[in-house]
Amino acid sequence: MKNLWLDEEAKNYKSDLELRVYSSNLLGQSDELVLHGGGNTSVKSIVDGEDILFVKGSGWDLVSIKAEGFSPVKMATLLEMAKLKSLSDIDMVSGQKEAMIDKTAPNPSVEAILHALIPFKVVDHTHADAIVTISNSKNGKKYIDELFPNFLIIPYVMPGFILAQKIYEATKDNFDWNRCEGIILHNHGIFTFDDNAKKSYSKMIKAVSLAEEFLKLNANVDLAPIEPSSYKIDKLKELIEIKKGFSVVMKINQTPLALKYASKNNLVTFATRGVLTPEHILRTKRVPLILEDNNIEKSLNIFEENYKSYFKKYENGEVMLNTTPNYAVIKNYGVVSFGKDEKEVNIINDIVEHTMLAVLRADMLGGYESITEENSFAMEYWELEQAKLKK
Ligand SMILES: [Zn+2]
Repeated sequence: MKNLWLDEEAKNYKSDLELRVYSSNLLGQSDELVLHGGGNTSVKSIVDGEDILFVKGSGWDLVSIKAEGFSPVKMATLLEMAKLKSLSDIDMVSGQKEAMIDKTAPNPSVEAILHALIPFKVVDHTHADAIVTISNSKNGKKYIDELFPNFLIIPYVMPGFILAQKIYEATKDNFDWNRCEGIILHNHGIFTFDDNAKKSYSKMIKAVSLAEEFLKLNANVDLAPIEPSSYKIDKLKELIEIKKGFSVVMKINQTPLALKYASKNNLVTFATRGVLTPEHILRTKRVPLILEDNNIEKSLNIFEENYKSYFKKYENGEVMLNTTPNYAVIKNYGVVSFGKDEKEVNIINDIVEHTMLAVLRADMLGGYESITEENSFAMEYWELEQAKLKK
């Protein structure tokens, strides 16, 4: 993938934070690195003699983040929090907020402690498609180990305090950070870091390019045009709106990728294998509505029943979310997303587009495998994430 760094432009940015904004925007410009609010970045700096972590604030997208989108948090507090034996994510967030030196700044990213633990000035984190595609495949652990021998590789755990604690445990004794080229979080994403903003960004591009090369060689998906069949799409919209109780904006995807995906056999199994990176679940839910015949009502009822039993299986006092699908895969017709407005439907469509390619590629690596249903539930019903979506 292309390295977008321009020395000519970068030289205009003098402060740590200005440069941080510049390379965050560069990361955000590549859809194959982050989509809609995904990923986060930080820079360590000194304010009035105190070490401060400027970390992406929640509610900001890397592509458009500005200086005011970064939360300034005291490093000392974050490093103390990392040592705690246990901490709820709610308490972590309020502890982080208390350690902000500017109370008008946005809430710091839930990965702030992790960023603080990495002893380099600049830290970049993305959910790069190529990395998570390989990781979400049957032999993902082996391939990632082989491709990234000098990376710290962490099996999937829930983002937030549990993940920060995992990194703390893995690195607190005799860990040689200088020989560590980055961190890969299985089923989630990748971190690169350096004391220099250009180098940290370039390490990200280099690592992701390596994964892309691997996929090109081992999982190249042929996307020939396919003629879509017809479907009673107006009826689908009508029934979805009745179920959801509000009018929806629908987006029909009939790209060669969507058609190849929708033409697979046994969609009920094929297209329901979970999300590419955990936070996507908040937009798409874990599985789509599958329509393999014209009986939309019956399929919708099955979807809702399955959703309710998934909730019942894992719930522990949470309030159930909307039980209706956010997108549908329609046999030989394509993929249709439903959003409350144009913006939301485009986000869902983009996420599904990236997921479909990853699934097809991971199948060529032995089979697509996402996080477990139980871990999906933990993410979908994460209190913090529910709060973030309401914004
Ligand atoms: Zn992440």
